Amino acid sequence: MSLEEILAKMGSGPDASELTDKDPYDVLVVGGGPAGSSAAIYAARKGIRTGIVADRFGGQVMDTLGIENFISVKHTEGPKLVASLEEHVKEYGVDIMNLQRAKRLEKKDMIELELENGAVLKSKTVIISTGARWRNVNVPGEAEFKNKGVAYCPHCDGPLFEGKDVAVIGGGNSGVEAAIDLAGIVKHVTVIEFNPELKADQVLQDRLHSLPNVTVVTNAQTSEITGTDKVNGITYIDRATGEEHHVELQGVFVQIGLVPNTEWLGDTLERTRFGEIVVDKHGATDLPGVFAAGDCTDSAYKQIIISMGSGATAALGAFDYLIRN
Ligand SMILES: Cc1cc2nc3c(=O)[nH]c(=O)nc-3n(C[C@H](O)[C@H](O)[C@H](O)COP(=O)(O)OP(=O)(O)OC[C@H]3O[C@@H](n4cnc5c(N)ncnc54)[C@H](O)[C@@H]3O)c2cc1C
Repeated sequence: MSLEEILAKMGSGPDASELTDKDPYDVLVVGGGPAGSSAAIYAARKGIRTGIVADRFGGQVMDTLGIENFISVKHTEGPKLVASLEEHVKEYGVDIMNLQRAKRLEKKDMIELELENGAVLKSKTVIISTGARWRNVNVPGEAEFKNKGVAYCPHCDGPLFEGKDVAVIGGGNSGVEAAIDLAGIVKHVTVIEFNPELKADQVLQDRLHSLPNVTVVTNAQTSEITGTDKVNGITYIDRATGEEHHVELQGVFVQIGLVPNTEWLGDTLERTRFGEIVVDKHGATDLPGVFAAGDCTDSAYKQIIISMGSGATAALGAFDYLIRN
C-alpha cells in the first residue's frame, strides 16, 4: 500500500463536497492506467481543462513485475513505469483525483459522474478507461502463488518460464494461443480444459496438436495449485472418472478470460455480452460526449501500448467533439 493510500484510509483525502465544488471539466478521464494517462496527456496538451478520477493510479501496471514489450524501452518494471506516467500527467496540470471510485454516469446538460463517496463531478466529455481484471480460477494456491509461478499474461511473463514445465488453464482461443506461444519458450505445456472439448478455433487446435511439447487434458477441473514458496504443481480432477491427478511443474497460466471493470455503468452505454464498451474508430461510445479506451473496451488485444494508443485516440475524439459542439 502506498503512503497516499494509507493517508486516504486515515481520512486525509478530499471530502465529497470539496470534489463536488470543482468547476466542470472539458475532459474527465475515469481510470488512471496506461489508457487513462495517455488520454489525459493528449487532452491536456490541447490546453483544455482535464481531470482524472482513478481508483488506483497506474492500474494493472502496478501489479506487473517486468515489462519488456513497451516499445523503445527494453526492460522496465510496473511501478517504475507508473511513476513516469504520473510525472508526465502532472507536467500538464491534470487534476488527478486518485483513490476515488466512480459509481454512476449520467448525461444531463453536462455529463455527471457520481463517485462512491457521493461527490458529483461534471464534464463536457468523459473518457472511460477503467480497464479490466483477469478472471480468477478461484482454487487454493492461486492467490498465494500469484507472481510466484501463477501468471496471467503469456506475452509478458512467458519468457520467465524458459526451459520449465507449465500449465495453461483454459482451452478457449486465449488459452490455446497462450499454449502455442509458450510452447516455443518453455520445456512442456499442459493445457487443462474444463469442458470435454477445447473451445478454440479449429485452426488453433490443429496448430496446438502439431506441437511435440504440449499435452491437452480435457474434461478436467483444476482443484489446486500447489507449492511451498513458489508453484511446484497443479492438481485436477478427471470429471468423467472423479480421479485426482497431480502434475509437477513450475508455472501456471490462468487463461479463462478478462473481466472489464464496467459493471458500474449499468445500462448507460452499449456493451458487448462480455461487458466490454463498444467504441468506434474515434473511441466514441453510443452516448454522445462519452468516449472509452483501453482494456474496458471491445479492442481485440489488451496490452499497455495498445491501451495508450486508444487513450490518445479517445482524447483526440473528445477534442474533436468539443470543437463541433
Ligand atoms: C500481471 C500483469 C502483467 C502484465 N504485463 C504486461 C506486459 O508486460 N506488457 C503489456 O503490454 N501488458 C501487460 N499487461 C496488460 C496491461 O497491464 C493492460 O493491458 C493495461 O494495463 C491496460 O490499461 P488500461 O489503462 O486500459 O487499464 P488498467 O491498467 O486496468 O487501468 C484501469 C484504471 O481504472 C481504474 N478503475 C477501475 N474501476 C474504476 C472505477 N469504478 N472508478 C475509478 N477508477 C476505476 C483502476 O484503478 C486503474 O487506474 C499485464 C497485465 C497484468 C495483470
